[in-house]
Amino acid sequence: MAIDMNWELMLDGNAVGGLLIEIFGQDLTALWSTCPDCGRQGELATLRAFTHAPGVVLRCPACDAVLLRIAKTTRGVRYDVRLVTKDGFPQASR
Ligand SMILES: [Zn+2]
Repeated sequence: MAIDMNWELMLDGNAVGGLLIEIFGQDLTALWSTCPDCGRQGELATLRAFTHAPGVVLRCPACDAVLLRIAKTTRGVRYDVRLVTKDGFPQASR
């Protein structure tokens, strides 16, 4: 059986829980979110996390859409949120 590199590097959203606390000042792993592409709902911890990409990418486990991208740069943290949450997504605390 061939091993898909992407699967080998894949983690779940819990893997980035510490990073999310560092950036947003709160634990977001239990945040309920909806995928804008396929409508899948679930806690952020259930998303697929790719931490070996440049920065961190969270993808929908149902349709593979990119739902959250976080990159640390020399000018600070940049992030792009596509997932839909009931009360909005928190702003970075720094
Ligand atoms: Zn989806």
